[in-house]
Amino acid sequence: MNILRASLAALLAVFLLTGCENPTSRPTPPNNKIIVLGYHGIGADAAGYNLSTDKFKNQVSYLTARGYQPIGIKELYGYLYNKEKIPAKSFLLTFDDALISDYNLVFPYLVEKGLKAIFFVPTDHIGRKGNLTKKQIREMNGHGCCDFGSHSRSHKNLYTLTAETLAEELGGSKEILEEITGEEVKAFAYPNGFFTGRSIAALRDNNYKLAFTVMPGRNDFSASPFEIRRITLSESVSDGNFKMMVDGDPDFYRPYYSEMYAKSTQNKLGGIASLCEEELRRYEGITDSFPNNSPSPR
Ligand SMILES: [Zn+2]
Repeated sequence: MNILRASLAALLAVFLLTGCENPTSRPTPPNNKIIVLGYHGIGADAAGYNLSTDKFKNQVSYLTARGYQPIGIKELYGYLYNKEKIPAKSFLLTFDDALISDYNLVFPYLVEKGLKAIFFVPTDHIGRKGNLTKKQIREMNGHGCCDFGSHSRSHKNLYTLTAETLAEELGGSKEILEEITGEEVKAFAYPNGFFTGRSIAALRDNNYKLAFTVMPGRNDFSASPFEIRRITLSESVSDGNFKMMVDGDPDFYRPYYSEMYAKSTQNKLGGIASLCEEELRRYEGITDSFPNNSPSPR
């Protein structure tokens, strides 16, 4: 519990930073250009993980103005597994937790703008107050703009579960969503962003093909389909930090991943530690600061 809270606090803390310096000379950002944005609720009463409608729309506009084109989960799957072509600069919208604003606000916006998104559903939450109903999921799914992925059944941290419960959280939620949508569910979003090698193995056993982290970054051909970088956005993320994350600015990523690497290694979150190590290697001048002992294999 405390490990989780401490790590999550660290995951989020950096989003609260403001006023980063922008020196004139710095290394060129890595050339990886698929941006995945991660949202929760959208609306005027933005609080916690939520985001105001204006800020959400401005973020989408920022990407389109810079030449990024929208793709859906099927295009991302085709790109990562079959090297199918997608626009050189692409973005994918994702929404976690099956909140009612997915239906009331996001769905009409996608239709209006011709955008696509994937919604990650903790299936035990379907029909609860403030969450999507089965009927709404079916309606959204029928429009072609909305795809659905699993966010487990109960939204528990995967690394805390027994093998049996883990199988039920992954396999059971997949079965429920496939029954509702009538389509194969290939994608998963890690509850609270935590994953280990065991989580990835269990996802493979349950026939998932893609899994989304909450580790910020951009994705390219070499991206592991089970460790997709995703820029998680809430009201507390400053416009400046949003731009730094989207633009691949080393001044954001260096300190973020250095800190996360230390924390995840300390807390034995091997999956996240390895990802941090890989991400830090993208940026020149960082590898020297690694400790000699590598994190345990995933
Ligand atoms: Zn969630």
